[in-house]
Amino acid sequence: MTMEELITKASGYLDEENIQSIREAYEFAKKAHAGQFRKSGEPYINHPVEVAGILVNLKMDATTIISGFLHDVVEDTQITLDDIRDVFGENVAILVDGVTKLRHFEYTSKEDQQAENHRKMFVAMARDLRCVIVKLADRLHNMRTLKFMRKEKQIQKANETLEIFAPLANRLGISAIKWELEDISLRYLNPQQYYRIVNLMKQKRNEREAYIAQVVEDLKKYLQTVHIGAEISGRPKHIYSIYRKMVNQHKQFNEIYDLFAVRIIVKSIKDCYAVLGIIHTHWKPMPGRFKDYIAMPKANMYQSLHTTVIGPRGDPLEVQIRTEEMHDVAEYGIAAHWAYKEGKTKNINNKFEDRLTWFREILEWQNETDNAKEFMESLKMDLFSDTVFVFTPKGDVIELPVGSVPIDFAYRIHTEIGNKTVGAKVNGKIVPLDYKLKTGDIVEVMTSSHSYGPSRDWLKIAKSSTVKNKIKQWFKRQQREENVAKGRDLIEKELRSQGLSIKEAMNEENFALVVRKYNFSHENELFAAVGDNGIPARQVVSRLTEDEQKTKETEPEEPLHSFPDTNKYKRHRGTSSGVRTKGIDNLLIRLARCCNPVPGDAIIGYVTRGRGVTVHRADCPNIVNEESKERLMEVEWENNEEKSKEYNVDIEITGYDRSGLLNEVLQCVSDTHTAINAVSGKSDKNKVASIHMTIAITNIEHLHRVVDKIKRLPDIYSVRRMMQ
Ligand code: MN
Repeated sequence: MTMEELITKASGYLDEENIQSIREAYEFAKKAHAGQFRKSGEPYINHPVEVAGILVNLKMDATTIISGFLHDVVEDTQITLDDIRDVFGENVAILVDGVTKLRHFEYTSKEDQQAENHRKMFVAMARDLRCVIVKLADRLHNMRTLKFMRKEKQIQKANETLEIFAPLANRLGISAIKWELEDISLRYLNPQQYYRIVNLMKQKRNEREAYIAQVVEDLKKYLQTVHIGAEISGRPKHIYSIYRKMVNQHKQFNEIYDLFAVRIIVKSIKDCYAVLGIIHTHWKPMPGRFKDYIAMPKANMYQSLHTTVIGPRGDPLEVQIRTEEMHDVAEYGIAAHWAYKEGKTKNINNKFEDRLTWFREILEWQNETDNAKEFMESLKMDLFSDTVFVFTPKGDVIELPVGSVPIDFAYRIHTEIGNKTVGAKVNGKIVPLDYKLKTGDIVEVMTSSHSYGPSRDWLKIAKSSTVKNKIKQWFKRQQREENVAKGRDLIEKELRSQGLSIKEAMNEENFALVVRKYNFSHENELFAAVGDNGIPARQVVSRLTEDEQKTKETEPEEPLHSFPDTNKYKRHRGTSSGVRTKGIDNLLIRLARCCNPVPGDAIIGYVTRGRGVTVHRADCPNIVNEESKERLMEVEWENNEEKSKEYNVDIEITGYDRSGLLNEVLQCVSDTHTAINAVSGKSDKNKVASIHMTIAITNIEHLHRVVDKIKRLPDIYSVRRMMQ
């Protein structure tokens, strides 16, 4: 397109002020690209002019056309975005910036990379779809001039176009660009098939044109009698669509190309249906071929009536009937938005809003799926799918991708309905859940509040990736619920094994306190943490019983243990060590001083010369390193219910040396009613305090309780059981 042609066309729908800006943009770009050349050898400026020309054909607004002129300026010349902002203002600068960013979009075989680029692209889209339209125009001109590229580059670009840009154009409803992109791509990817189809079409051209001319003449006559003005034309068939049908439906060229097609453009929707009636009166309609896309527009806003009739020569004849406005939308899709935004058609604008919702949905999935490949899969699928329309029992129309099953429908209605689905009826009959929905089906979902939720098979059956994600989420939550149940079970078991009352230990107040101590906001979080083995049940139980212990021991008849009252402390009170050997009786048993085992510790006996058996902790270094293994023997704790038996345990506490630390530690131990037998403390030059303490402990749970409590004090670094 020359600059004069462009201006003439633009003047058809833009005012003089806008035309002036467009001229300025042209001069600006021409100067910026001066001295640069395209691969074809022509001056670079020809490319932005062509791109702007495509945008004018789409009847885009002046801002978009100006951006078309400037789309390569920032990246390829000395001009900066600020320069553009200064001359053309903020709106143009935003668009140029958006297009410049999209320029780094590259199709590679690495899927993750693709997805990453798609995201950038879609983010830009959501911000301003006009960036994408400029990008499509840019790609279209680059494809038209692809022959100047290296062979390898041609294949790469054609693949990219077919996989990414043509479906995008389709999604935006810009079929004028979509068809051309597809046909050019096929020419480079499969030249043999492409030229074969072109030649076959040529051979039939005269015959076809004669037939179409006759059909048009007949139609004009019929319409004149009812005074309906219409534009009637033979509809060009696109090479790629013929190719696709041959490949997908395993058909011969003749079987596909035998279809003759005309398009009728009328003034009003009323006329559309009137014309349809006239056609069906004169020519017999083929059953199942009538589609009313006026009442039920396609996902990309396409509206039209489609029918196939047996034409005057006895051959099938495809007819499309639409208004001018519908035709613009059919050709230019979302681009028609700017042409019609003057409020001529409120209805269409609403549908554009719906489309924007679609892009937002894409962006939302992006957040849900962290895996780039998964995102790519979902994106690809939904981009390439066509659409079916089904009805709810109330008559609402639901749009679903082709291949959808009742599960897709159920989740589209509501996630909870999907999760509770047990069956489905289509047109009043019960169908299996993998039944493929057809346009016009009336779908009724049967739910049950007793449903166990979705089945794993649904992931294979469901078509829509959003629905699959919803099902996956259900399973994730379910897994969590299982963990909650398991965690609760483990805690209750632990309480029972310690002979404690579940009712008392898990009373609401007490339990809420423990949940808070773990910094959880809900008890289920604590249960889940125990259930998936993050927190030992025993530890939770020891925290739960802390208070129970307290109430029991503060009963008046029980004297308080408190520091420095060490009189209460008696080592090995009672007659035995609390340990028995397996099998042999009457051995003298004493507890090792090096590791100070307490009930609950894993222990092992060591036979000493003349002194009987010394009991060590199983992990005591003195035992682990013992070479005469024959002197080791199995021992076990007696199941002694006598609560008051106490054992000496040495612990070391380190923390930040501040005033009051020692007192707080002592108070804290005292609060657990644990007697302290010995204390010493020191501090090093780094202000690290270490406190050594010997405490009287009844069993391992008691010890854990004390250690946990000390650990929760501020400025404590570590609490450790000592070995000597
Ligand atoms: Mn370009």
